[in-house]
Formats: sequence, structure tokens, C-alpha cells
Amino acid sequence: MDIVAEKSFNESSSRRLWSCTIPRTNDSGNDPMEDNKPRNFIRQIIDEDLASGKHERIVTRFPPEPNGYLHIGHAKSINLNFGIARDYKGRCNLRFDDTNPQKEEEEFVEAIKDDVRWLGFDWDELHFASDYFEQLYDYAIELIEKGLAYVCELSPEDMRAYRGTLTEPGRNSPYRDRPVEENLDLFQRMRAGEFADGSKVLRAKIDMASGNINLRDPVLYRIRSGLIHHQTGDAWCLYPMYDYTHPISDAIEGVTHSLCTLEFEDHRPLYDWVLNNISIAAKPRQIEFSRLNLEYTIMSKRLLTQLVAENHVDGWDDPRMPTIAGLRRRGFTPASIREFCDRIGITKADNMVEMGVLESAIREDLDASAPRRMAVLRPLKITLSNYPDEQEELLLSPNHPKNGDMGKRQIPFCRHIVIDRNDFMEVAPNRKFKRLVTGGEVRLRNAYVIRCDEVVKDDQGDIVELICSYDPDTLGKNPEGRKVKGVIHWVSARHGANAEIRLYDRLLKTPQPQGESWEDDLNPDSLVTLENAVVEPGLADAQPGAQFQFEREGYFCRDNKSGDKLVFNRVVTLRDSWAKIAAN
Ligand code: ATP
Ligand code: MG
Repeated sequence: MDIVAEKSFNESSSRRLWSCTIPRTNDSGNDPMEDNKPRNFIRQIIDEDLASGKHERIVTRFPPEPNGYLHIGHAKSINLNFGIARDYKGRCNLRFDDTNPQKEEEEFVEAIKDDVRWLGFDWDELHFASDYFEQLYDYAIELIEKGLAYVCELSPEDMRAYRGTLTEPGRNSPYRDRPVEENLDLFQRMRAGEFADGSKVLRAKIDMASGNINLRDPVLYRIRSGLIHHQTGDAWCLYPMYDYTHPISDAIEGVTHSLCTLEFEDHRPLYDWVLNNISIAAKPRQIEFSRLNLEYTIMSKRLLTQLVAENHVDGWDDPRMPTIAGLRRRGFTPASIREFCDRIGITKADNMVEMGVLESAIREDLDASAPRRMAVLRPLKITLSNYPDEQEELLLSPNHPKNGDMGKRQIPFCRHIVIDRNDFMEVAPNRKFKRLVTGGEVRLRNAYVIRCDEVVKDDQGDIVELICSYDPDTLGKNPEGRKVKGVIHWVSARHGANAEIRLYDRLLKTPQPQGESWEDDLNPDSLVTLENAVVEPGLADAQPGAQFQFEREGYFCRDNKSGDKLVFNRVVTLRDSWAKIAAN
């Protein structure tokens, strides 16, 4: 790839990212975000419900299962649910959907809270579905008493066989017509731990011939004994199913609009059936939207768990992971992720979002906010033969080309500097090569024009050093009588700090991995480590997580897990280098 120096100094972005603060109430009654509010079919429904008086106050919830870290797909749901509560001055709860203790852990609960806060949102109420276990149990008794639920003893295989198929109706379970008293007795004894796992379940009595398989007497409760639940300990061995728990939890919390992804569309009749058959007044409305699929990555928690467990990546916060923790460590800002979510919008159509959309959101954000620095990733020594050895000077360099408010910094200059190996060739390969060549001139960014006089090689013929001369008359002005087009970055070899640079790329090499063979799709070059980089001395004090543009190289962030060691992660390149590859 041929980077023409001046162009990369001039990346432009005029897009405005909306601010990080989330106003909930506004005394003046004016909504400062009015003009920037996203529009989508869910907000239209809410507008109608407010206009008709169906609801006075909107309540939403974000309901993660604590069985893994949140990913960028969850961010879409978070941005939707919390964004609606913010814009309509309503409420949004964080509710852990913790009905499956086998896979859930406290570690995930804490990580999820951190991630939601980091994204810039805060919940009105924090709940666990397990808070409602007692109430859920009581509603199950109510269903049994109404003759709408029964204890079934079919084995899992038989139950499958009885369920029928998409084209054939199911058959009634032989246990379906058990007397209410017997059901009550058995269900209480299930709770008391008298029966083995899998021996009995509680099922809703709906319709085994329904065209919707979810309505063919779905399981409401199953036995899971001997487990320690992260919230309820060993208090329960009877656990409610998601489809039963979710509508009731929504109703208890007064949720008005229960927003979920499209795969739950076929479950909506069951959601409504549960609420219509128990004595609960609130009737939240479930609305489905399409889930986020992002090219070159995978979004399923099961597969992400596998990547971590099999050490394909360095934990859940590996900077290549599509998790919020990974994106944070990679150097993404919360604003860029929210902006991404706003740009992709909310629809009912399943689609695949290009990675470039996410990358341009962070690129634009950092273009505006990240201070510029110089870092030489693959150093090549230069000795400036006519620069006195004892001399040193400090050169003033702007921190941002378009934002003078970001000030200037001083960078040391001396006889010994380094430039990037890619910025030198003995002979120019073509006319586009505007960097340094033997006998040619180039400008050092914010410093002088230099000329390469001699190339020093080792016994193997590899270039180890360049002997150059500098033109003292070229600081901040053009040289007399000749044009020097190329500009390259550099660092004082005497003053620079040694750093490790991690160049991250896409996790997968194919945009849409198919089925289970995704392991073959792992991009072997998703991490390239450069251990001998030399960076401006000031970068040695960079805060963990701080982002910079390394001029001509891309956006980088100091790694937050490397302690005192100076490590920078590449957030994103300066330009979309994949667009070119994809086009070829
Ligand atoms: P996975 O299938 O990856 O395990 P999940 O849907 O089971 O994810 P939950 O913790 O149950 O994960 O999800 C919490 C909320 O986030 C749900 O409302 C879910 O619909 C939503 N969500 C999960 N993945 C996506 C996605 N890719 N795009 C949009 N919303 C998502
Ligand atoms: Mg789920």
C-alpha cells in the first residue's frame, strides 16, 4: 500500500458524534437531543402509544443472561432500550435473565454492569429474574389450579416425538389430563427436591395441534438439582424456563415495551398467553427487531466462549474480540459504539453489517479527538552527519492539525534519529514513491529536510543505517530552489521510548463464516507484534487506555493490561484498507 505522506496528515471528518452525557430530565422542557433522535418503527409505535394515552411513561429493560461477556450485538440492544428511555424520559432496567444456573456466573454479572456503564448508560432499577422465583412459582400454581398446566413425565425423547413437526401436529401427552390436585401435589414435591433431574417437568396446556410449535404444551419448569445459583444459592432445584419467566418479569417491573430480537417472534403468542392467563394486570408488548450480524466476526456467546476456552484469543477482552471489553481494550470509545448503533438503525430485516461501518465510526471519533504523535514501528537508524553530536533542540509540534486548542508539544531532535524501514528504498520503485531514496530528499515531519548520502549494510547485505545530511534552512520553510514533496515521521533515537506495538486485524478472514467450520476461517494474521518500536518520549507517560493518532500509521491506544511495559494496540488504520482488498 502506498501512503502519500501529506494526505494522511489531512484526514477529514465533519460528522458530529453525539455527546456522552445522557440527559434524563430537562427542566426547560426542551430536549437538547430532539434533532438527533433516531427514528425507527419501534419509536413510531411508542409515539402512537403515548399519543393514544395507552401509556404515560415508557419503561424498557435490557435483559442479558449472565453466561458470557456482552458483545457489540448487545450494544445494539442496550443503545435501543436505554436510548428510548433517555429520549422519552422513561425508565430502563437492567435485568439479569438468570434462570439457567449451569452456565451463569457472578463474574459475568459484574462484567455486564461495567460494560453497560462504560457505554454511557445507567439503569433505573437493577433486577434478577431470580428475584421473582417465588412469584413465578405462585403464578405456576395459579395456572395448575386453572387447569392450564400439568406435570408431565415423558422422557425428553418421547416428548420430542409427541411434539410433532412443522408439517404434522403433535399428540397429547398421556399425563395431560391429570387431575389438578395431583398436579399440585407433584409440582410441590418437584420443588421439594423429591424427583431426579429430567424425570418430570411442568408444561402449559395449550394446543398440541397448533401451527406454532412453541404453543404445543411448552415446558414451563424443569428440575436442576445440586447446583449453586449465583443469586439464590441452593434454595431452588426447580427452575423456570425463559419463555415463562420473561413476560412475567416484564409485567412485574411495569415494562411497557419488551424489545427483543427476531428469533423470538414465534414466541410472542406464548408471551401473550402467559400474561393473559395469570392474574397480573400489566400487559407489556413484545416487539422484535433484527439482530446485529457483523462481517468478519462471530456474535454467538457459545462460539465466543469457545474461542476463549480454546485459547484462540487472550481472554474475553482480547482486542480482536467483538465484546465490549475487547473493543474497550482495543481503544474504541463509548461514543463511537453508540454512533455505530445509531447508524445501523433498527429494522425488522435481517442483514449483515460491514465491518467498515464500525471502523469508520471510531476513525471519525478519534480523528477529531486523538492527539497526534510520532511513532516509528520498524526503526531504521539515521545519523545526520552534519548535525553536531553535542547539539540537541526541541521542536514545537501541533497536537492536532485542525484543532489549535489541543496545543503544541516539544519533541527533541538530535544527530541520531530513526525512521520507518518502509519509508526508505535504495531506488524508488515508481514515481508515486515520495519517501526517502539514496541521493534523494525528504522532509521530516515538523522538522528539517534531509538527504540520504550513504547506505550502510551488514555482512548479509541488509541495510542497517543511513548516513544523511540535513538542511538547517528548512525548519518551517521550503528549501531554496527545489521542491521536496515527501514528508515522513521520525523519532529521536537518543530520546525516544521503546515500545511494543500490536497490530490487530479482523478476527476472521471471511466475511460470513458458514456453519461450524468457523475455526478454519480464523485470520492467522489477526495479530502482528512489533517489539522494537520507538515512540516519542512523551508517550512513555501515556495513561492506559489513552488514544493517539500515530501519524501516517493509524490510531493506537496504550494497552490497559500490560502494567509498566509500554504497549500500544492499533485501534484502526487511517483508512479502510480492506475496502480495496474486497474490491479486487
Ligand atoms: P447469544 O445468542 O449470543 O448467546 P443471547 O441473545 O442469548 O446471545 P442475551 O444475554 O440473552 O444473549 O441477550 C440479551 C439481549 O441482547 C437480548 O434482548 C437479545 O435479544 C439482545 N441481543 C443479543 N444478541 C444480539 C445481537 N446480535 N443484536 C441485537 N441484539 C442482541
Ligand atoms: Mg438469550
